Amino acid sequence: MRILIVEDESRIADFLDRGLRAEGHFCVIAGDGEEGLSLAQEGDFDLILLDLVLPKMHGHEVCQQLRMKKVSTPLMILTAMDSVDDIVAGLRLGADDYMTKPFSFEELLARVESVMRRSSTRQEENPSLQVGSVTFDREALRVFVDGEEVHMTAKELAILELLMSNPGKLFSRERILSNVWGLNMDPLTNVVDVYIGKLRKKVDTEGGESMIETVRGLGYRLHMPPGSGEQPQRSG
Ligand code: CA
Repeated sequence: MRILIVEDESRIADFLDRGLRAEGHFCVIAGDGEEGLSLAQEGDFDLILLDLVLPKMHGHEVCQQLRMKKVSTPLMILTAMDSVDDIVAGLRLGADDYMTKPFSFEELLARVESVMRRSSTRQEENPSLQVGSVTFDREALRVFVDGEEVHMTAKELAILELLMSNPGKLFSRERILSNVWGLNMDPLTNVVDVYIGKLRKKVDTEGGESMIETVRGLGYRLHMPPGSGEQPQRSG
């Protein structure tokens, strides 16, 4: 799963990030409410873990704005504020669950799994994405080209999943950076181009047109194979 962690205490964010990655999830960390809100709208996440007391924008407002904008990603509040009022307010604003700090990682994991089971997410409905000859198994995080498994690094998987979830949609380098590396990366770095190059070597048919189209000066998008329509073919 792609999980957005909105947490300003880096110690807690790192703890969550490490633990969730070890369970096979992919995490992006936002350090304040505004960044969290913007990433949550753009990043195509399966779950949001949201702290309440955040710089720039309170977690309650992040939650409210997301639901007003019809972003229905499952959302769990993580907060040191254990007053009933804060928790009730969060749930009323559209949160799916909450945990009060400090919490054990095992308990968090159990709650995350329970939230995911309760919500009918796109991932559960469509565990795999298919575009052209490339199949992305979102549960096992495995990629197959013409039925043959291709091994990918975590970042390559994250970029490919982002592009394959939105075929035909244009992603700027900045947007790919913030989705895959978080917002603390230097926007002038060419790391996105380097990784797109690596991905092309793995998913493209030799001599054929690249699956990932470069839109000069703007960014990248997944090339839709002829006749495949507007929506990605989903299987599973
Ligand atoms: Ca905080």
